[in-house]
Amino acid sequence: MNDQPVNDQPGSRGADHSPEQPRDLGHPLRLGLLLPDDDPALATQLAWAAARVGVDLLAARDGEDGEAWTTLAYLASALAEGGDPGAPIDGARQGAGEESGPRAPMDLLAIVSAAGNPAVLGRAAASLDLLSGGRLELALDPGVPGPLDASSEPPQPHHAEDRAAESLRVITGIWDTGDPGKLRFRGEHVTVAGTPRGPAPAHPLRLGLVAQRRRAQRMAGRLAQSWVSLEAPIGASIGDGEGGEEGIAALVEHWRRARTQVDDAAVAAGRDPREIVGTVLVPPAFSAGNSLPVSMLLGVAAGVSTFLIAPASVEELEVWAENADRVRREVADAREQAGIAVGIRPSLAVRQARVPGIDYDAIPSELDPIEPGDPRYGTVRSTYMRGGRPGLVLRPQDAAGVSAAVRYARAQGAPEAMPLSIRSAGHGMSGRSTNDGGIVIDLRAMRSIEVLDAATRLVRIGPGAQWGEVAAALAPRGWAISSGDSGGVGVGGLATAGGIGLLGRQFGLTIDHITAVEMVLADGSQVRASASENAELFWGVRGAGSALGIVTAFEMRAQEVGDVGLAILVHPMPDAADLLERWGEVAAAAPREVTSFLLAQGARAGQDAMAQSITVVNRSEPEAILADLQPLADVAPLAQQQVVLTPYAGVVVPSQPTHRGRGAPVTRSVLLEEITPEAAAAMADLLASGQVHFFQIRTTGGAAADVPVDATAYAGRRGAFSVLAMGSERAALNAAFAPVEAFGVGNYHSFETEPGREPQTFGPNLPRLLALKREVDPHNVFRDNVVLA
Ligand SMILES: Cc1cc2nc3c(=O)[nH]c(=O)nc-3n(C[C@H](O)[C@H](O)[C@H](O)COP(=O)(O)OP(=O)(O)OC[C@H]3O[C@@H](n4cnc5c(N)ncnc54)[C@H](O)[C@@H]3O)c2cc1C
Repeated sequence: MNDQPVNDQPGSRGADHSPEQPRDLGHPLRLGLLLPDDDPALATQLAWAAARVGVDLLAARDGEDGEAWTTLAYLASALAEGGDPGAPIDGARQGAGEESGPRAPMDLLAIVSAAGNPAVLGRAAASLDLLSGGRLELALDPGVPGPLDASSEPPQPHHAEDRAAESLRVITGIWDTGDPGKLRFRGEHVTVAGTPRGPAPAHPLRLGLVAQRRRAQRMAGRLAQSWVSLEAPIGASIGDGEGGEEGIAALVEHWRRARTQVDDAAVAAGRDPREIVGTVLVPPAFSAGNSLPVSMLLGVAAGVSTFLIAPASVEELEVWAENADRVRREVADAREQAGIAVGIRPSLAVRQARVPGIDYDAIPSELDPIEPGDPRYGTVRSTYMRGGRPGLVLRPQDAAGVSAAVRYARAQGAPEAMPLSIRSAGHGMSGRSTNDGGIVIDLRAMRSIEVLDAATRLVRIGPGAQWGEVAAALAPRGWAISSGDSGGVGVGGLATAGGIGLLGRQFGLTIDHITAVEMVLADGSQVRASASENAELFWGVRGAGSALGIVTAFEMRAQEVGDVGLAILVHPMPDAADLLERWGEVAAAAPREVTSFLLAQGARAGQDAMAQSITVVNRSEPEAILADLQPLADVAPLAQQQVVLTPYAGVVVPSQPTHRGRGAPVTRSVLLEEITPEAAAAMADLLASGQVHFFQIRTTGGAAADVPVDATAYAGRRGAFSVLAMGSERAALNAAFAPVEAFGVGNYHSFETEPGREPQTFGPNLPRLLALKREVDPHNVFRDNVVLA
């Protein structure tokens, strides 16, 4: 739905105004078709012709001979691809499962029986929303019997309406994925014993009610985002003849009365009538000649904005199209003269949850915003590590959108007056890619992965991609880029910081494979940086990118990587210091094809201390892999072992992109040149302190250490081991960590949440980095991760 929100406008009604006669509410005018449910061939011809003549909306209704879902799913797919809906649908066209599939060229309205299972309806709508690229809206129709009704007496109209109202509530609950609990609902007609919520529609999805009777119209006013009228009053076909002046007057009066019911109920429920869109079917008798434009023009003045006709032929549709242009023009002129802004008032829930200081009406619509109160908010508010409550999440689709987002955020006073966070895939350890009350620029929509030059294995990757997605995309070519140990981590966060990965000892850090970046700077300008363009920025972005701008694309050179050996070895750890020292010695001495990460856990209630290594051996011959693994297996007796041969894409697999982090993480990082007996003893004490609930050592060094310290902003080249400790109590963790830190030669800022550690992170590169920062971001706009002030 292409709806721009509107705020108060002079003379318009709002929840704080008393009810009055309906008037033009400024909703976008939409002229559409209701497709026949009993003639699939005509429905297809009409839909195709509708795309040609520029219809705003296609509606399909459940009927005896067809289901609205089936019709619209088929048409959404065919029309979105620009194909002929008469042709069969192939798998490539389906597009389901994508977060943003191809976009249908018009809005789609599914008018479905309110007697269906509402949980199923809600989920089906979320799928069709994806398939149509966000063009769907849904209306429940109490007038269409459900499958169970056929075998028994049809329910009384008021029972069917009550059931529809309960179903509206259930569907809203299914879409409320911000609530982690199962949905339970006990109504008079609908019961949901406990079902997982979701999926939420990926786009705003209007939920309406077909309301012929006053009772249902009042329900729509209380609960729905649209009311739909599909029947004409008897008076509209009498008087001075069908479609004549008296008939038009009767028809429009019928709409006006319905709208009054809707609006009065809305105001009584504390809502604003401008939240509720009016959709009517213009009866066939009014579809010809001048009756159609006149009834539509009068209808707009009575608070209706979406007009459907049900043409009997393509020719009838073409005549309608000529009238449609006139109506569009006249409505636009009338609105301009009356100073009526076009848009749909956000719901009360959304308005109440708004954060003062953010001008929600000024958000550029291409930024696909999500704000508190939006049912999709729960899917974007938090990150993997931290729960957040931002006032606004902007979701640009491209570099121009990122630029617009930066300019918009700065116009709201960010970051001085409100927090500003940049998010790629939301796996930041610091959790700073969300915030409370501020703005998040979420780059997840920018996740394309394309090959620029196959001969040199040059690829271009969007920041919102997860590394697991990158691995899967490169695997068919036998390529890989060393990233980290988790496929859910985002390209944007990791490739601006370093990238200590499971192929790292052989291929170095992820940043060592970047050949160019495209960025948006603090002033919103778009730049490219490489060894030959903006070379200083290119230097800085590889290690401190998050403090310099927003990377909108990375160009990187992949490596040829066949199947690799992946081993998981578990050792009991009665003597932690001994095991850590031995493992460190063996892991550092191994050939560069071997990269090992070690997870260690002190003794806990009922559990002995243990260590688990995850090791990648970049060789394809099983014997060679086992030979390389043997020294690691020998560091201590084994409790479990598992070795598999897998593509690199089997090592890092993508994860669920919706995060439900809570609280705020506390982590500490240090880089060690070697694990000396003293350092091992300090780490054993740390593990025994009870202050650490996650402890990992990653081997780095190898090829990463071949690169001079001043070649990139990343300064931790001397570190052969990256140590990460995660706790829950900051002061206690700091105290327990200090003895380990004493052996350090720096830290990795992606694993560090303690503020003020930039001197340790950037070491000798810090003065150069500060000078660069002053040049490209003098007002310190990008301060949520590394602070260079
Ligand atoms: C489970 C897990 C495993 C991990 N394993 C490894 C590992 O093995 N090796 C390793 O090196 N790291 C690892 N990390 C750390 C990870 O690399 C960083 O936390 C990284 O920032 C996450 O990237 P993201 O895009 O998912 O994060 P986000 O939370 O989206 O972003 C984190 C920060 O990066 C900055 N940022 C994000 N996108 C951009 C952009 N496009 N341009 C500029 N700045 C940006 C922002 O300041 C943001 O606050 C791991 C993290 C987790 C949670």
